[in-house]
Amino acid sequence: MQQHLVVLSGAGMSAESGIPTFRGANGLWENHRIEDVASPAGWARDRATVLRFYNERRKKMWACEPNAGHRGLAALEQDFRVSIVTQNIDNLHERAGSTRVLHLHGELTKSRSTVDPSLVYDIEGWELKLGDRCAKGSQLRPHIVWFGEDVPLLGAAAEIVSSADILVVIGTSLQVYPAASLIDYAPDHARVFLIDPHPAPVAPRVVVIPAGASEGVTRLRQELLP
Ligand code: NAD
Repeated sequence: MQQHLVVLSGAGMSAESGIPTFRGANGLWENHRIEDVASPAGWARDRATVLRFYNERRKKMWACEPNAGHRGLAALEQDFRVSIVTQNIDNLHERAGSTRVLHLHGELTKSRSTVDPSLVYDIEGWELKLGDRCAKGSQLRPHIVWFGEDVPLLGAAAEIVSSADILVVIGTSLQVYPAASLIDYAPDHARVFLIDPHPAPVAPRVVVIPAGASEGVTRLRQELLP
């Protein structure tokens, strides 16, 4: 049976595709305060700004391409059962060809009702507007988990990590909780890797590959498939 290789990816995974991370930018995300554009309070204060912010992210995402790191992970499906748990809201893993991707913090390509969270829709193109409504008549919001909100897929993600034979953490500062705690669910027998040019401090069992995503995934492949 194939080994289960689980990837936990963060914003650094998409940096080489031209999508900036946000640590390192004074806590600002694309020149916005995070509490203005990624919190329920920001949404309550100014829906137009929040919609515009995610519209810009969505437009930019469609103009970016998956990088060699995304493509290398997709290629690992030939040798492993690969599950990807990503904090990223972009769709670059899917566009590179990965087939099992769980988006812990939601997806830029989707919208959600503000009265019934089970009503989730695909967004055609890049724009979600004031006045776009769900089947029950409420304004649609981005299908994103904001700071201070529950992470509905956390349990499913923990279950995936707890069945890993190999866990590969890529491009995350491991500062955003509860996502950062997922690494602790790796079973004792699992081999654990961290790929990051500026790796966060981690336990001694973790093999650190201090490189960007593209080069790091190439080096990972050499470790796993010599
Ligand atoms: P973060 O911004 O806190 O940390 C990014 C990490 O990526 C850092 O450790 C950095 O050293 C590393 N990095 C930088 N360049 C890299 C490269 N070329 N290859 C590999 N790693 C590289 O990111 P986070 O821990 O994912 O937390 C950020 C939160 O912001 C997440 O919850 C995510 O939802 C959101 N976010 C998403 C995107 C996206 O969808 N692409 C972009 C920005 C922020």
